Amino acid sequence: MKNFIETLQNTEFNQEELIRLLLSEGEERTQLFQRAQAVKLEIVGNKVFFRGLIEFSNICSKDCLYCGIRKSNEKVIRYEATDVEILDACRFAWQNRFGSVVLQSGELSSPHFIQRVDGLLRKIKEMSKGELGITLSCGEQTLETYCQWRESGAHRYLLRIESSNPELYRKIHPDNDFHRFENRIQALNDLKTAGFQVGTGVMIGLPFQSVEDLANDLLFLKRMDVDMVGMGPYIEHENTPLYNFRKDLQSKMERFDLSLKMIATLRLLMPDINIAAATALQAIDPSGREKALTIGANILMPNLTPCEYRKEYQLYEDKPCLDEDAELCRNCLEARIELAGCEIGYGEWGDSKHYLK
Ligand code: SAM
Ligand code: SF4
Repeated sequence: MKNFIETLQNTEFNQEELIRLLLSEGEERTQLFQRAQAVKLEIVGNKVFFRGLIEFSNICSKDCLYCGIRKSNEKVIRYEATDVEILDACRFAWQNRFGSVVLQSGELSSPHFIQRVDGLLRKIKEMSKGELGITLSCGEQTLETYCQWRESGAHRYLLRIESSNPELYRKIHPDNDFHRFENRIQALNDLKTAGFQVGTGVMIGLPFQSVEDLANDLLFLKRMDVDMVGMGPYIEHENTPLYNFRKDLQSKMERFDLSLKMIATLRLLMPDINIAAATALQAIDPSGREKALTIGANILMPNLTPCEYRKEYQLYEDKPCLDEDAELCRNCLEARIELAGCEIGYGEWGDSKHYLK
């Protein structure tokens, strides 16, 4: 068997090697992080690209067992930001040279919703003279809808697989036709067919999840040949069914550490993709996202959701930046990114090198 340093030099990894990296401690953990940072600098460089995140609606037709805005959580006040509010947030992103925005929401598939997103895409493109890149994160839709949205100006789409283990997927979703693993896979394939740069990812530290599952998740991401990945710790929310299993969870710090190792290991496995420093990292450690930037991540999603709505988009407990407006958020991020030794790719779309290839 190869020693740890030799394994780190690999360009291909099997499940056993991935598990070894994910379980690394002490000196070996440090070596993993250093190698991931070196690979990142060599292959994708030192730039961090911004995607201004606009959580434009928390209305959702689904009931994922982990999510604070699931349909059955009656404690949430439902909102839908107006076109003016969304365009204002996009204008802020454009004027501050963020390069791109992400429009994220609960999942709806009504004709009204599909048309609304379509209209927004066209307005954002027109307002920014085609300069703002647009990523969508609006859940599972038909191939036809994906094609329509692609045509109207979105060019990247985020749809996490959540877990690549179909059995675990079933345990964290209701058992009905709206929440099928097979549909999720189909949606990811449809997004590719529609011509999107596709991003996916998983939650780390879920109840019932093993380190083998996580290694298989990494192999899944590689097999799916995705262009970008956003993954972060699972964090419990008291008004969700999965909260009943909180005693089985690893500590938050353990989930945080495992998330960093997942990011570093993914950078070795897929050197030229975009990897986001997930907001959930910051919910556990105030400088969690910057730490991720120093061990492999290269994408940050500053929150541009109008402040009045943020407390109603609480996917999990302790979600950060609930009361910071966009300007404050930007200043705070700039300082943090400098501290992490990275440079901001202002005004660039920052598409994944993997996709461009
Ligand atoms: N509705 C769309 C969807 O599900 O793809 C987009 C919005 S959804 C809120 C975005 C992501 O939030 C999900 O893919 C999930 O991974 C993450 N999320 C939800 N609840 C979470 C929790 N309790 N801890 C960590 N991440 C969570
Ligand atoms: Fe809805 Fe997305 Fe939350 Fe599932 S994860 S309940 S689809 S917002």
